[in-house]
Amino acid sequence: MEDCIKQALMEIVGLENFTDDLIELVPYSYDASDHDHRPEVAVWPTSTEQVSNILILANGHLFPVTPRGAGTGLSGGAVPVRGGLIMDLCKMNRIIDIRIADRQVIVEPGVVYADLENALAPHGFFFPPDPSSSSVCTLGGNVATNAGGIRGAKYGTTRDYVLGLEAVLPNGQVIRTGSGCIKSSSGLDLTRLFVGSEGTLGVITEITLKINPKPIETKTSLASFSNLSDAGQSVIEIIHSGILPSVLELLDENTIQVLTEHGKIDLPHAAAMILVETDGYTDAETSFQMDKVIEVLKRNNATDIRIARSAREAKELWKIRKSIGSVAAQLRTHNVSEDVTVPISKIVDLMTGISNIVRHYGLPFVIFGHAGDGNLHPRIMYDRSDPDQVEKLRMAVEEIFKLTCRLGGTLSGEHGIGLAKAPYLSLEHDSMRMNLMRAIKKLFDPNNILNPGKMALSN
Ligand SMILES: Cc1cc2nc3c(=O)[nH]c(=O)nc-3n(C[C@H](O)[C@H](O)[C@H](O)COP(=O)(O)OP(=O)(O)OC[C@H]3O[C@@H](n4cnc5c(N)ncnc54)[C@H](O)[C@@H]3O)c2cc1C
Repeated sequence: MEDCIKQALMEIVGLENFTDDLIELVPYSYDASDHDHRPEVAVWPTSTEQVSNILILANGHLFPVTPRGAGTGLSGGAVPVRGGLIMDLCKMNRIIDIRIADRQVIVEPGVVYADLENALAPHGFFFPPDPSSSSVCTLGGNVATNAGGIRGAKYGTTRDYVLGLEAVLPNGQVIRTGSGCIKSSSGLDLTRLFVGSEGTLGVITEITLKINPKPIETKTSLASFSNLSDAGQSVIEIIHSGILPSVLELLDENTIQVLTEHGKIDLPHAAAMILVETDGYTDAETSFQMDKVIEVLKRNNATDIRIARSAREAKELWKIRKSIGSVAAQLRTHNVSEDVTVPISKIVDLMTGISNIVRHYGLPFVIFGHAGDGNLHPRIMYDRSDPDQVEKLRMAVEEIFKLTCRLGGTLSGEHGIGLAKAPYLSLEHDSMRMNLMRAIKKLFDPNNILNPGKMALSN
């Protein structure tokens, strides 16, 4: 990047919010995926006006700009694969307004999820998507990836809560979408177009989110099964039972074995487990829901049902689910966590199919996930320094994506496409859909300066 451009950037953001220092650029070379590429400069804008001026400069001089939140993305979305500039939004982190009467909150994109949770707690409200990375990920990143979480079956994903946005287009123009209303049927839904656009259409500089009253009571249980189909049937019948649990997690046989052998967690021998949580505002309400769940679990031959009688016991059950990632990671130097999603009734087919595929390639794996919304997280462990294992991983992942699409599913339920899944996107979307998405990218960003190379939208 020419010195005159660096000088102009310093004038826009100030000396203290610009760097081309190698030591500061290295952490911006990667996110939580397997991809990396170093940017030439990084900036920390503090206002929409600065974001706009940076994009006007980039559009004039044709250098790539990659927006970035906390860099926890699992698909390489924030990796500056074409070099250029990293725009770190972490300093735009004000909670602008909490409007309880309107059931909404207005935030800047760099607000960390957990900070919003803490700010809403005294009002008895919450923002439900709750990704596991909530202690560090930003709301801008959540909107850009349409992040979800463990309570998705009942509460949906980020998309269900974004009422409006302010975004800066690649040519520097500032656009406001949506409205301050809980509902609107007015015009094409530009807000939803930005949600999940992974920084390819505009830089999000302000977000209006719908919020919910926070449930204060929960009930938790864990059931074991001697075969996967009974567990799968339980999931389907729970969904049919007239209540919606806030959590409905499925763990496969490998997960149980890995937790027992490597996590030293005492679990019954089982082919599958289901963790269920019900939530509400009174003990009677959560108990009513949990009774329905237990009825279904018993009817489907659960071999062991543990019901938490206290907050401490509930924490013990949750520990099982929350330990999976760190325990599985011990098996090899690297791991990849996918987030394939199918219609709920196909979850057992997907789990069985993934097991067969990965077993064929001989790599260690666990499969768990949010059965309540059809979203599984197969996690495959491998050693990146071994080309044979890398190739086996690539082939296994490709077969998993093909299987998912055959089952009527989607490549990503919550992590996004980024770089990691870009080569496979056309398995899910036919050429008409791919061409339409690429045409939209071109309309917004004719010079392809904003997060180029992502989502198979541009080079
Ligand atoms: C341990 C761990 C657990 C995780 N658990 C979950 C989970 O439960 N559910 C889930 O959905 N994800 C999960 N993730 C993935 C990740 O946390 C989410 O995708 C999150 O939304 C990314 O937020 P971020 O601030 O880190 O964004 P980044 O990783 O910095 O960016 C993600 C994408 O958003 C774009 N972007 C960021 N900010 C903006 C902006 N202001 N305007 C335009 N584009 C922008 C970037 O260009 C990039 O394409 C997990 C990741 C880790 C490491």
